[in-house]
Amino acid sequence: MSAVRGVALLGATGSIGRSTLSVIRQHPERFRLVSATAHGRSAELVDICAEFQPDLAVCRTADEVAALEPQIRAVSPGTQLAQGPEALAAAASHPAAESVMAAIVGGAGLAPTLAAVRAGKRVLLANKESLVLAGGLFIDAVRTHGAELLPIDSEHNAIFQCLPTLAGGRRALAPGVRSILLTGSGGPFRTRSRAQLSAVTPDEACAHPVWSMGRKISVDSATMMNKALEIIEARWLFEAPPDRIRVVIHPQSVIHSMVEYDDGSVIAQMGQPDMRTPIAHALAHPDRIDAGVKRLDLAAIGTLGFGEPDFERFPALRLAYEVLAVGGTAGAVFNAANEVAVAGFLEGRLRFDAIESVIESVLQAIAPEPVTTLEGALDADRRARHEAARVMAERFAS
Ligand code: NAD
Ligand code: MG
Repeated sequence: MSAVRGVALLGATGSIGRSTLSVIRQHPERFRLVSATAHGRSAELVDICAEFQPDLAVCRTADEVAALEPQIRAVSPGTQLAQGPEALAAAASHPAAESVMAAIVGGAGLAPTLAAVRAGKRVLLANKESLVLAGGLFIDAVRTHGAELLPIDSEHNAIFQCLPTLAGGRRALAPGVRSILLTGSGGPFRTRSRAQLSAVTPDEACAHPVWSMGRKISVDSATMMNKALEIIEARWLFEAPPDRIRVVIHPQSVIHSMVEYDDGSVIAQMGQPDMRTPIAHALAHPDRIDAGVKRLDLAAIGTLGFGEPDFERFPALRLAYEVLAVGGTAGAVFNAANEVAVAGFLEGRLRFDAIESVIESVLQAIAPEPVTTLEGALDADRRARHEAARVMAERFAS
């Protein structure tokens, strides 16, 4: 048994954050929470401090710090409370953290996740948007700083488990590997026609048939933008040419993804649709621990189904391959336009079936440039957000 591992948790109050705490709670002999961050839900942050006694807690604003400080001091006197970008970076690069769970949602996760990478940590990556926004830079930083990346996204964690291990623990499309088969449930609207999508409400879009997740990723699953982001994520994580990443629709979400080999073998990773499995896998890697997840009962499941993705009804998939072909800042623009459109939809300002049109308009309006610096990627992100807001207000207001 190894010594207790320090864990930094970025996005502790989210869906992935709570599942991570559940695995840590189950294994106090292995893991200690050293830092935790939250953006809102401050009462939950107090509870987390009371239970896990982290060294550092990060909340959103100075007002929150003032309001929470006495409460946190009362339940966890050893916890320092802070806010702001430097505090997020400090949580991500905490000296006692061996592993950093990057579970902030959206492009806001990029800077703190990069701080963990630059501190040479083992980074457990849930925040796929970081890789879509600035994949090349991100992966270069992982190499330069000797960080280790372990995917948390269930599909990428599955692919990681199915790929051969290369020197230094790397998992990539080595000789002998033919393709990555990225599975997707198809989301709540898998069988609906395009016309049936116009009246979809936020609550309908967030009611995923298999997975329970945060609201942004739930909408992404409904448009299949989540799978689109995951195609780009796989390209960077596994050094995979886009034409060797294929999407397979698998409604039961029992197989979490597969790797196809030249000899005809296809290796799949299966499990319950429960994020505690990939979280426990990455937290304990290379050991295997109990994740508190129900055992998979294949006889009870009975049948597994598979199908082709529909690029007509779900144009986000087509856009992902186009974005990869264009390269440069297109990823940042794609991600930012989606975030603005999804927020607009959740706030009732944009129709569900206009989300992809907004994204496509923004991609057309902003000329791609090579990404050579983080500032360059963030600048494209800002311009895309601005353009998306403009396009939504002028052309797609619902
Ligand atoms: P969520 O909305 O439930 O939680 C997001 C967390 O990020 C919260 O703790 C929130 O306080 C924090 N946060 C939000 N905005 C922030 C900001 N501007 N600055 C700092 N912190 C901020 O989201 P989630 O479903 O847990 O997803 C988190 C990430 O994991 C996303 O990138 C998502 O794509 C990825 N992911 C989630 C799942 C899942 O099952 N939920 C599966 C695979 C990948
Ligand atoms: Mg996923």
